[in-house]
Amino acid sequence: MKNSENEIIKVITGKSYYQIVVGRNIVQKAFEEIFEEYKGYKIAIITDSNVERIYGSKILQKLDKKDQVFILPFKAGEESKNRKTKEELEDRLFELGFGRDTLIIALGGGVTGDLAGFIAATYMRGVPFIQIPTTLLSQVDSSIGGKVGIDHPSGKNLIGAFYPPEKVYIDIDFLITLPKEEVINGMAEIIKAAIINDPELFSYLESNIGRAINLEKKFIDNVIISSLKIKANVVETDEKESGLRKILNFGHTIGHSIEILSNFEIPHGSAVGMGMAVETLISEKIGILKSEEKERIFQLLKKSKLLEKPFKAPADEIIKKTILDKKTRKGIVEYSLIKGIGNALYGIKVEHGVVKESLLEAGIS
Ligand code: NAD
Repeated sequence: MKNSENEIIKVITGKSYYQIVVGRNIVQKAFEEIFEEYKGYKIAIITDSNVERIYGSKILQKLDKKDQVFILPFKAGEESKNRKTKEELEDRLFELGFGRDTLIIALGGGVTGDLAGFIAATYMRGVPFIQIPTTLLSQVDSSIGGKVGIDHPSGKNLIGAFYPPEKVYIDIDFLITLPKEEVINGMAEIIKAAIINDPELFSYLESNIGRAINLEKKFIDNVIISSLKIKANVVETDEKESGLRKILNFGHTIGHSIEILSNFEIPHGSAVGMGMAVETLISEKIGILKSEEKERIFQLLKKSKLLEKPFKAPADEIIKKTILDKKTRKGIVEYSLIKGIGNALYGIKVEHGVVKESLLEAGIS
């Protein structure tokens, strides 16, 4: 991506499509475009308290002065991705007189996108919605693919819908204020995209991951755009996750169990990083992945600092949690594994003994 140019990626969904516009310092222009396109609409910008605090004076105050534009903040954090916050925001929309001509904009990370998107999916049986993701994870992953929803005490993302956005604006400059730990979190999904689908991106990361984590322009821009293209391509091939989209779950079966067993103290990215390590070992043990490739994956995971959080739990407990995961079908866990860098398989059943051995070898059990 050259400085003055934005990259545009098209995602086809059924008979329609939406655009992802990627660039730097594009947010102001994005809002102008949106206001022009949605003239006559009442616009709700749903955002979290951190984003509101950081960008309040820069962006939001200017918008707040506009007729028909309302900022609706909620308390930042995964704890807010629930029915209660959804209800409170919906009540606010009704109080403010939002009707059928409503546009919802999600300005924030994955929590904001999932929550605001789910509100858009059900408010008045569905109103248009636009994503402006502000974390690395939401820029490369959660804002694309149309999965929206909230958590339930029984588990994460258990109530939701497939509801694609009208458009996604990715302003990479938002990452400047993002804490380093959140950058590393998002990097897990970029590494995953490379492992499952793009050997070239994988090699690029092997040489440049440090520069990307330090947000050096050329490097972070390149890896964001490459991994976005992978996700866009996978989700448009299988929008509703009946097949190929399952490859995106690589690292997430074990990763989700780790997240839950740590009471979410292990951040999502590190949990997925450990999950990728274990699932790489499983791939090697069942004979589909060469040990040289396993070694390269481990080296990259180490360089990315995704394996640094201390976590240990008995293998049986981790395995038990994988069975409760929503990806399980009829009590049988199906793994997405790899048979080479850039080449993933899905729907693989693995004996518990192999999972156990891999957890031990990864130092997690
Ligand atoms: P998040 O939305 O909680 O954001 C992380 C933190 O960064 C928050 O404290 C937030 O306030 C802060 N923040 C956001 N933008 C900032 C900025 N520019 N500068 C400084 N701070 C900023 O979490 P996340 O990691 O973006 O997303 C995680 C969520 O995404 C989870 O709920 C997960 O389930 C969901 N997710 C959804 C999908 C999907 O396909 N829908 C895919 C992956 C993850």
